[in-house]
Amino acid sequence: MHKRILRLVGIGSGILFVPLAVIITALIILTAMIGAAFGAGQSQGQYNGGGGALSDAVLAYRPAAEKYCEEYGITGYADLILAIMQQESGGAGSDPMQCSECPLNVKYPHSPNSISDPDYSVRVGIMYFASCLRASKAQSPQDIPGISLALQGYNFGGGYISWALAHGGYSAGNAAEFSQMKIQKMGLTGYGDVNYVPHVLRYYSASGGGSGAFAYPLAVGTYHISRGYGMDGGEMHKGIDFAAPMGTKIYASASGTVEFSGMGKSGNGFRGYGNVILIRHDNTYSTLYAHCSQLLVQAGASVKKGQVIALIGSTGDSTGPHCHFELRVNNQAVNPAPFLGAG
Ligand SMILES: [Zn+2]
Repeated sequence: MHKRILRLVGIGSGILFVPLAVIITALIILTAMIGAAFGAGQSQGQYNGGGGALSDAVLAYRPAAEKYCEEYGITGYADLILAIMQQESGGAGSDPMQCSECPLNVKYPHSPNSISDPDYSVRVGIMYFASCLRASKAQSPQDIPGISLALQGYNFGGGYISWALAHGGYSAGNAAEFSQMKIQKMGLTGYGDVNYVPHVLRYYSASGGGSGAFAYPLAVGTYHISRGYGMDGGEMHKGIDFAAPMGTKIYASASGTVEFSGMGKSGNGFRGYGNVILIRHDNTYSTLYAHCSQLLVQAGASVKKGQVIALIGSTGDSTGPHCHFELRVNNQAVNPAPFLGAG
């Protein structure tokens, strides 16, 4: 497989003046072929749900990230590249994108951490991620389903992207299924990081990379944030608390289908949430609105972004009227802040 990869890369880089479309097509084919090489053997990071700040070491790579994003036709994706880097290395070492095993690395051995030139690491990582974005047909830096597919493909190898496209796009479930398939086929003990998408997206914030996909659940001027997401007094707070007067309107953060609407209890997995609504937006994303005084939509209903779905209350484990809002990626709460935009 390596020989085949190297030959293809040789063709791609040897001809300098081929039309862009040919290069893109070659990259897509290459991405589809390389499969395992890049993703296999990468550590299975434990998802901790923590919100993410980019390290200074990662932020220092912004100029390089912007330069190569422009060069490889993905201007606007530098924030996402930095989020990937934060997940891969935290910006440490001479291979911050951890892409020595990427088949597009034609300069250093394909063994871990062989790349000794950070700028080359960033360039190869972006070249490779650009091919994943194209294969995934991602529309923009705000196209979270498209980005999610590209990210999982970046970790697993491009074979995942074409396979997932034939299976309805990225989902946490099919990422796990693909990993299992590879483990069995190749006799491995592990394959890639099945939680790579939430792992990277928790860092996709900073200067508003992922913002705008979801709207604030309360109207401007009607609330104050009484508690943010994250560790608080030794306890993990999995959402943002919007404090507002009793009866204030709560809006759907994005369009979707109401998966649950009712009183939370241990039997339904929502104990302590009081009157709570869970809206499913797609295979990946869902949002939750807790402690409501009144629920205005029922399970199974379709809701539009900005539709009134409930009223502020203090039901369940609550000490005053507020909406506890969660954004879940693959059913795991993540920091909603990076995703929220006006609207
Ligand atoms: Zn809360």
